[in-house]
Amino acid sequence: MPLNDLFARQSRTLSFEFFPPKNERAWYTLEDTIEQLAQLGPDFVSVTYGAGGSTRAKTREVVEHIQTRTGVTAMAHLTCVNATRGELLALLDEYAGAGISNLLALRGDPPKGEARFTPTDGGCAHAVDLIDLIRDRGGFSTLCAAFPERHPEAASREADWDHLAEKLRRGASGAITQCFFDVQAYADMLAHLTRALGRTPRIIPGLLPITDWHALVRFCERCGAEVPASLRDLLAPLADDKVAVRKAGMAWTIRFCQSLLRAGAPGLHVYALNRSTAAAELTTALRQSGNID
Ligand SMILES: Cc1cc2nc3c(=O)[nH]c(=O)nc-3n(C[C@H](O)[C@H](O)[C@H](O)COP(=O)(O)OP(=O)(O)OC[C@H]3O[C@@H](n4cnc5c(N)ncnc54)[C@H](O)[C@@H]3O)c2cc1C
Repeated sequence: MPLNDLFARQSRTLSFEFFPPKNERAWYTLEDTIEQLAQLGPDFVSVTYGAGGSTRAKTREVVEHIQTRTGVTAMAHLTCVNATRGELLALLDEYAGAGISNLLALRGDPPKGEARFTPTDGGCAHAVDLIDLIRDRGGFSTLCAAFPERHPEAASREADWDHLAEKLRRGASGAITQCFFDVQAYADMLAHLTRALGRTPRIIPGLLPITDWHALVRFCERCGAEVPASLRDLLAPLADDKVAVRKAGMAWTIRFCQSLLRAGAPGLHVYALNRSTAAAELTTALRQSGNID
C-alpha cells in the first residue's frame, strides 16, 4: 500500500527496520525475524540500502520478499551514492515494475575515510534533489531522514531542520529520525518544523531497543547519537551483567517511547537489527499499556 494512503487514514503507525543480509545464514535469520515480526501486524517495514550500491539488488530482493510472503507494506531506502540521475530514474522504473511504491530518499554517507560527500557526476548532491526526481517521476510515496540532534555535517540544529523542512515542502510526506535518546531534542525539532511549515509534519522517531551497553555505545558512535548522562549512569555500572542491562535498558526504552508519543510522535520506527526478540518485547509492552494499537 502506498504510505501516503496509510497516513491519510491512520494517525499512529508502528514500523520496523531491517538491513539486507550479508550471507546465506544471515538471510535465514532475517526470514525468521520477518515472519515473527509480521505476526505483530506492523503498519510497514523498511529495508536499508548499503553505501556504494553494494546491496542495491539485495534491498529490492528483501522488499519484494516481505511484500509477497507476508503482505506487509515495505519501503526501500534509496541513496544518491554512486548513481547518476539517469541511473536513479532507471532504478525507480525497476522498483515501480516490482510493485515497490514506498521510498526513503537519502543522500547517503561519504565513503569510509572521506570527510565530505561528493556527488557523482550528473548525480544528486542532497536528498532534496532525489526527492525532486522521485516527485517529478510520480508514483511513489516518499519519506526522508531527520536528525533531532542535527546531522553531523550541519552548522547548527536549526540550519539542519530548515533543510529538513525543505525536503518536506518538496515532496516527502514525512521523515524517520536517526536514533536518539533525548525527548526534548525531538520536541524542539517538531516545534521548529511546525513554525517553518505552518503545520505539524509526520516525524516518526527511529528507536533502538536497548539490550546491551557495549552494543549501544558502538551503535551510537557509528550514527553520531549522544548517550545522555542519565542513561550512561543507569547502564554503565551494569555493563557486564547482560541480564541486568537488558532489563534496565528495555524498561528505559519503553518509558522513552511513551514520552515521545506524549510529545506528539505520530508513531514509532524500531531499528530491529534483523532480530525479533527486543522489537517484539517493546511492541507487546507498548500495546499492553495502551500506547499503540
Ligand atoms: C532513518 C534513516 C535511515 C537511513 N538509512 C540509510 C540507508 O539505508 N543507507 C545509507 O547509506 N544511509 C542511510 N542513512 C544515513 C544517511 O544517508 C546519512 O545520515 C547521510 O549523511 C545524510 O542523509 P540525508 O538524507 O539526511 O542527507 P541530506 O538531507 O542531503 O543532508 C545532508 C547534510 O546536508 C545538509 N543539507 C541538506 N540539504 C541541503 C541543501 N539543499 N543545501 C545545503 N546543505 C543541505 C543537511 O543539513 C545535512 O547536514 C539513514 C539515516 C536515517 C536517519
